Amino acid sequence: MLSKKRENELSELADFIANQYCPKGIIDPTIIAKAKQISYCYGQYKNSFDGLIEYEAGSFHIYINSKDINSPRTRFTFAHELGHYFIDEHRNALLDGKTPSHPSNTNFSSKNPVEIEADFFASSLLMPKSRIKQDCFRQKFNFELIEKISQKYNTSITATILKLMTLDHHPIMIVCSINNNIKWFKYSHDFPFKWLKKPNGIVPKDSLAGEYFRTRKKHEKTVPVAADDWFEYVPERDYDRYFYEKCIYADKHNFVLSIIWED
Ligand SMILES: [Zn+2]
Repeated sequence: MLSKKRENELSELADFIANQYCPKGIIDPTIIAKAKQISYCYGQYKNSFDGLIEYEAGSFHIYINSKDINSPRTRFTFAHELGHYFIDEHRNALLDGKTPSHPSNTNFSSKNPVEIEADFFASSLLMPKSRIKQDCFRQKFNFELIEKISQKYNTSITATILKLMTLDHHPIMIVCSINNNIKWFKYSHDFPFKWLKKPNGIVPKDSLAGEYFRTRKKHEKTVPVAADDWFEYVPERDYDRYFYEKCIYADKHNFVLSIIWED
């Protein structure tokens, strides 16, 4: 997890760039790349990476491993690679040839601080804080708000939640589970519980995600869950403290994304 201070620095940097190059409407990473004379190409490369930035013979080049150029995922990958260019420490490392060009993957599960920073930059570039704050102003937090923002900015639900998490708009937690195992989770700095129940990494059975893995039952709607269903070390007085859980399912990958928040 990045420090609040670092998040603010990166968010301000991204906001500045977004407003400079795309002051109105949707943020288009290609406009920014062109303005900075960074060449780029979309392709279908065999290697399993989503994006790559390279510094060679005095110029930068971005490879995007997708041909679906307007998809939220591709746009995020592009913005991530721009992060490696715009964040001073990342660019200097590329210029010095200290870090060999590293392939990046857009799955939010990296533990590498450099990747976490580039991901954070990407969501802040595509969803500039100054604009998102207006969208959230006096809005009740719910899944509809997430959907509305992701459509407006052409960003994935996951990237949108991760951005909203950093705005102190509402305490939020997000848990990604595959094959009944918790793959990764993140929460906003102000989320009241930090310890997930996950014996041997298994999804807690009484959570909504747990229900899917046990019974294959899917919920279209947001469902209330008790603190004790998801969290460890819940003080007795909070056993019945209620949260909301909204799940997004992908049967093909036996995958569930849980968004958890308090009313
Ligand atoms: Zn990267």
